[in-house]
Amino acid sequence: MPELPEVETVRAQLAPVLTGRRFERVEIHDPRLVRPYEPAEVAAELEGERVAAVERRGKYLIVRFESDRVLLMHLRMTGSLRHARNGLADDPHRRAVVRLDNGSNVAYRDVRRFGTWLLLEPGELEPYLATRIGEEPLDALFTAARLGDRLAKRRAPIKAALLDQRTVAGLGNIYVDEALWRARIHPLRPALTLDRNELRRLHTGIRAALQHGIARQGSTLRDYALPDGGSGSMQNEFKVYGRGGEPCDRCGTPIAKTRVGGRGTWFCPTCQAASSSSSRPARSRRQSSV
Ligand SMILES: [Zn+2]
Repeated sequence: MPELPEVETVRAQLAPVLTGRRFERVEIHDPRLVRPYEPAEVAAELEGERVAAVERRGKYLIVRFESDRVLLMHLRMTGSLRHARNGLADDPHRRAVVRLDNGSNVAYRDVRRFGTWLLLEPGELEPYLATRIGEEPLDALFTAARLGDRLAKRRAPIKAALLDQRTVAGLGNIYVDEALWRARIHPLRPALTLDRNELRRLHTGIRAALQHGIARQGSTLRDYALPDGGSGSMQNEFKVYGRGGEPCDRCGTPIAKTRVGGRGTWFCPTCQAASSSSSRPARSRRQSSV
């Protein structure tokens, strides 16, 4: 599932392609993409709209039109977008196509069909997002203290609390594991037990893991592709995610796998000991950087 770095990479590639262009013709082949609305009605509403900006909040992709309407996309498990300057090859998993006023096409592909497109009227976006996602982890407003506020009453394991999009926007299974490894916090620690040092390390770890992912254009697992047809390389640089049995980069201990809230979870049993690690302050200064 695309997480913040993957969606940010899609946004960065689509922004120059879409900004200033008009949606000339829109075809939506899958009713699931826009339900409960009718595909033909949504397509007709989108035709003629001109793109003012392509933005992102959490894992949502936001196509903002000059009319101040917004097309809010969520790729969920397997959604992807492809820009084609010429024609499109046949694809049984294509769910929608937007033809732009310069003759190029943006195609939406989704094998598992969990992705969504939602057309919002002016003023509807902020209230929609406010109930669903928390702060942007890369914003200046997101501080260790704010993170602490969000976790203060949470008895859930820290991993589960971070997967909740209302805690912090944009984290998923990959980058939570990566952030917790960087912060040297065990994924099963109850969220409310983190002390100030640990919150500071976690805040730094979240941002570093996400920035590392963005710098590598996200990760590419299975047949996922970016709008330009290329792929990210973050999957080659994971510290723990999917690396069960391989040595920890920091201490050499084999990476362990467990399950938290039903999700496969990887961690270093030495660096991320189950009890509070605040008794080992000297190690916090050796945290590897991006
Ligand atoms: Zn380790």
